[in-house]
Amino acid sequence: MQGFGTTIFAEMTGLAVRTGSINLGQGFPDTDGPAALLETAIEAIRGGANQYPPGPGVPELREAIAAQRLDRYGLAYDPGSEVLVTVGATEGIAASLLALAGPGDEVIVFEPYYDSYAAMITLAGAVRRTVTLRPAGGRFTFDPDELRAAVGPRTRLILVNSPHNPTGTVFSRAELEVIAGVCREYDLVAITDEVYEYLTFDDAEHIPLATLEGMRDRTVTLSSAGKSFSATGWKTGWVTAPAPYVAAVQTVKQFLTYTASAPYQLAVAYGLRHELAWVEGLRKSLEAKRDRLITGLEAAGFETIKPQGTYFVQADIRPLGFTDGYELARALPERAGVVAVPSQVFYDHAQAGAHFVRFAFCKKDEVIDEAVERLTRLQVPR
Ligand code: PMP
Ligand code: GLN
Repeated sequence: MQGFGTTIFAEMTGLAVRTGSINLGQGFPDTDGPAALLETAIEAIRGGANQYPPGPGVPELREAIAAQRLDRYGLAYDPGSEVLVTVGATEGIAASLLALAGPGDEVIVFEPYYDSYAAMITLAGAVRRTVTLRPAGGRFTFDPDELRAAVGPRTRLILVNSPHNPTGTVFSRAELEVIAGVCREYDLVAITDEVYEYLTFDDAEHIPLATLEGMRDRTVTLSSAGKSFSATGWKTGWVTAPAPYVAAVQTVKQFLTYTASAPYQLAVAYGLRHELAWVEGLRKSLEAKRDRLITGLEAAGFETIKPQGTYFVQADIRPLGFTDGYELARALPERAGVVAVPSQVFYDHAQAGAHFVRFAFCKKDEVIDEAVERLTRLQVPR
């Protein structure tokens, strides 16, 4: 793991805490999820759900996850053999990569990528091949030829994150068809990270890759309660996939953590069954917060690329006279009392992301307003 150091989220949150800055770096909400969800976790503890739950997850949650995939996307999974509860999507990513990629195998990943992908591909002894998402037509997308060119004889997996952190892109059906076509042609397995599945804006629609022709049987889907229920600290995620893949992932997962926290599993089962109207309210409020932050960032001199989903907006720093996002992110607390994440850490080809910083808008309106007010200080002649 030499070379991996500390994650950018820990580094930037540490910087925010030390300097008392507004933290628009790490993506976590500053308000709680639905009250009844929180109450269910408390009640579960009071009710004695305090010992090891079954390794694959409590039946209530596995059944609720299967029902959610069926109701929302028409995807049928057997809760007994095709659903696995993990310690956040992070463990789902780790266990899936360790289970399905071995030394020398190649894994295709779109850059910028969520940082744990690179770490876990490395821990699996595998090699990553990146396909770059670039701004075009007001959103980040990829060149299908570049994707096809990334496939080689050792390619086993493709990792797909949509809605995408940090660009906010929600892959269209046409983009997903290209990915599915590559998977079918080269016999690849897809791992999809859908943790922002509910958090899409305007007319963007989240389409699970597994719903495309021939893809259910070759897709390992990951999601999590963290983003949907504003409970990122609960670390409750899940895998849905054909039984042989779930069995392989479970084999790894049992030695990573054995099982996930019992009371949160029960609460999340409740949430998936009863709190989806609350999630829709969250989605709407995040859409408004996105617009609020974008308007403010543009007024402060940044150029922004409007995200179709997630918590995040990519801001181009060049109009303000900066070129290196890492340098700016390190200087931002002192210069403006705000923390952002430099996007270049999510790239192998850092140059492609050098001039972007990522701001999170999953914050109270007054926090966004204060951050924007502070960021206008960057415009004073330097
Ligand atoms: N994938 C993506 C794209 C994320 O942004 C995050 C951040 N939370 C995760 C996975 C991790 O999810 P969890 O907190 O459920 O482990
Ligand atoms: N997913 C969040 C982000 O992208 C935070 C993840 C973390 O802290 N590991 O900011």
